[in-house]
Amino acid sequence: SDLSRLILDRIRDVPDYPQPGVMFKDITPLLADPGAFAAVTDELAGLHEVDKIVGIEARGFILGAPAAYKARAGFVPVRKKGKLPAETFEASYDLEYGSAVVEVHRDAFAPGDRVLIVDDVLATGGTARATVELVRRTGAEVVAVAVLMELAFLKGRERLDGVEVHPLVVV
Ligand code: IMP
Repeated sequence: SDLSRLILDRIRDVPDYPQPGVMFKDITPLLADPGAFAAVTDELAGLHEVDKIVGIEARGFILGAPAAYKARAGFVPVRKKGKLPAETFEASYDLEYGSAVVEVHRDAFAPGDRVLIVDDVLATGGTARATVELVRRTGAEVVAVAVLMELAFLKGRERLDGVEVHPLVVV
């Protein structure tokens, strides 16, 4: 589609970042293009009727916050451990070496809130899986996980069994 073209033409492949052997998908050219950034924001905002959009630190903030504004939804940050000031729930997930922890404020959602989770890239799915767990633990409802780009060969979708995954492009 036109949107996939717009996105794919503005994502830069950076080899060996952050580690040798990794091909990093850099979305900064897309963010810097007014038309592409607006088209992506409009698409994310129109996916589902939700009460809140969750952005996953840090690029999920950049995509999720303008989408929340456009959709007239609230915005909720999911952050790396230690960054949120009030009471949190936390969830850990495995990385290639070691593990990581993400947190959300316990009172971030009203009971029954419908929530869209937004991030830039779905890779192994660990980050998104942990975020789904966090949102559910608060009592809110995960409507879908939306990402700019799904790296299908990493099979992240399989770790999100039962959750709607909505990539704007799949590579
Ligand atoms: P996962 O947990 O393996 O699915 O990795 C997804 C998380 O790592 C997301 O928060 C992404 O922002 C980040 N990530 C992984 N690979 C890339 C990439 O190639 N480009 C940008 N972000 C990436």
